[in-house]
Amino acid sequence: MRRVALLGATGSIGRQAVEIVEGHPELELVAAASGSQPLDGLAPLTQVGGDLTELLERAQPDVVLNAVVGFAGLPATLWALENGVTLALANKESLVAAGELALAAKERGEGFLLPVDSEHSAVFQCLEGREPEQVDSLVITGSGGPFRGRGREELEDVGPEEALVHPTWNMGPKITVDSATLANKGLELIEAHFLFGLPYERIEVVLQPTSVVHALVRFRDGASLAHLGYPDMRVPISFALTYPERAATPVPSLDLSQGLVLEFEPPDLETFPLLALAREAGERSGTHPCAFNAANEVAVAAFLEGKLPFLGIATTVEETLAEVDGAPARDVDDLLEADAAARRLAERGLPVA
Ligand code: NAD
Ligand code: MG
Repeated sequence: MRRVALLGATGSIGRQAVEIVEGHPELELVAAASGSQPLDGLAPLTQVGGDLTELLERAQPDVVLNAVVGFAGLPATLWALENGVTLALANKESLVAAGELALAAKERGEGFLLPVDSEHSAVFQCLEGREPEQVDSLVITGSGGPFRGRGREELEDVGPEEALVHPTWNMGPKITVDSATLANKGLELIEAHFLFGLPYERIEVVLQPTSVVHALVRFRDGASLAHLGYPDMRVPISFALTYPERAATPVPSLDLSQGLVLEFEPPDLETFPLLALAREAGERSGTHPCAFNAANEVAVAAFLEGKLPFLGIATTVEETLAEVDGAPARDVDDLLEADAAARRLAERGLPVA
């Protein structure tokens, strides 16, 4: 039996994870947590809000599936890594913000860090069993979101209801907006850097509008391996929870009998500046990625509340990044301070309601 603690159990990833756990006799849900929604007996131990590491201490799980949204997932990520408990990570924001601190905790804990983000699960699978020197570069794909192909002037007036319609994935509101701005690909670029240890110039982002190709790895001999499948998060969730077994899921594999056309295109960095801003924050390192994430969280929340126009999300992040010091965090307190400072700067730039 593998004992699973599910954090963010009421969300999009959380609900799909419950389905995977229920469908697999060797997975057992021992603890579940949400931010505010009730959990009615979903697991023997449940917690709504509060310090999630207390729940993890009590539950002593074999695997933590961190599907909390945002920087709020940080303590659970660090707890699992520090304690050598397998971390199935959907909460990319914690790895982006904590970066080196998270990797140091993983080094001490000596546990597994298994990505649940579909692109990173795909890269992980393409890399399995290869030596680092064989790898040339990574390519993570994105659908391009609902506004792919539009220019800036066509995005001036788009509101939350348009941004919340995603062409290929059905996800929570924060990541859906991040997909519309391409901030999600930016976070994923930084996530890939920390997960796989490649410098940013060897990680490429490319758009593949139907989300059938999740990632590619290019090798030094000219060969590339790609990971294909229908866009369904139950596949990477199941992969991480049952690793290395790769258990069966209800998701069908690709049907090629009707043909399959795959198109790729480069992202439009001028219309969607958050991807370039994330790359720059990643390259500048220190707490720049933490500040990128913090400012983006503040701006997305303001956009969803109708207080900030769509294009204002990138402006808020850009202005915040221009002002932070970005010094590396020596410890978690430093990181919390960098996150708070970036949030204050981002909020200062919001239009007064
Ligand atoms: P969601 O909004 O649907 O769910 C978020 C969950 O987190 C909810 O259960 C909520 O109660 C909980 N939560 C929020 N704030 C919390 C707090 N302060 N403390 C404890 N719990 C809190 O979000 P989602 O779409 O399921 O995404 C979750 C994470 O997975 C995000 O980091 C997202 O980027 C990542 N992710 C999601 C998808 C997807 O398909 N939804 C794909 C890849 C990665
Ligand atoms: Mg993803």
